[in-house]
Amino acid sequence: MKVGDGSRVSAWYDIWNDVGPLSSFLTPRTISNAGFRLDAKVKDIHENGSWIWPTAWRDTYPVLIQLDHFTLNPDMRDEMYWKDGSELLQYSSSNVCHSIRVREPDVNWVKIVWFHQCIPKHAFLMWLIVRRKLLTQDIILQWDSSRRKNMNMMCCVLCFAHIDSHNHLFFECKYSSHVWDNVRHKAGMSDVKASWGDIMDWLLVRVRSKTAATFVSKLLVATVAYFIWQERNARLFRNQTRPPDTICGLIVETMRFKLMGVKFKDCVRTRRLLEDWGIGGANVIDDGG
Ligand SMILES: [Zn+2]
Repeated sequence: MKVGDGSRVSAWYDIWNDVGPLSSFLTPRTISNAGFRLDAKVKDIHENGSWIWPTAWRDTYPVLIQLDHFTLNPDMRDEMYWKDGSELLQYSSSNVCHSIRVREPDVNWVKIVWFHQCIPKHAFLMWLIVRRKLLTQDIILQWDSSRRKNMNMMCCVLCFAHIDSHNHLFFECKYSSHVWDNVRHKAGMSDVKASWGDIMDWLLVRVRSKTAATFVSKLLVATVAYFIWQERNARLFRNQTRPPDTICGLIVETMRFKLMGVKFKDCVRTRRLLEDWGIGGANVIDDGG
């Protein structure tokens, strides 16, 4: 803490001087016996330019002599800082987070998953897929038999032909590939097969591109993945079934609503792209990143 008027800094427990928290050598009993409250602030123990603690403390704890010339500044608020190595940062949760987290170089797929104007819940699922973190049946089957109980009857609830896995659901499954094949042309991905590897490779080549077309393809892949995973879970846990064409309709509708709310830079290509989605030129005015 940097002391200003001393009204917010705990006299005993905060670190506000080079000596460290005074509680490191003053016990609660010592503090109370001298007539101070344990929740006293710095301003409560400093009057008329000097400390009001017993003079005997200076003999018992000579380290306090270092604080003799301390002054309060009534016109300044107390301020909290975060010490990052030798550097003092203004205290904020983001500064603290950046200071203590482990930083790694960006992974090459970061912009495929997280990008400006993405749909957050879709992006989150994309992240789980890329990290292979969804609890698919192939992963459950690796559990020991006591944990998976009667799961030997498992199969993909979309096609009933295989067990489900990341690669199967996205989008090798007959159901998923039907959905993918029906919507991929809307993002200029007509020749990209229904395989997660192929789709990622295709996107990785374009990862630095800031065109509206790349934005639409990233958005589409995430949206398709989201609705496939949602359908899989609806069948598995709620016994609700929708045909693939209904899912295609939902994907297109979700994409359209999203694209209607995004501002794009005006150019012929973007206009044409949006027209393919049935959207007029009204929102083609600004930078969509
Ligand atoms: Zn399947």
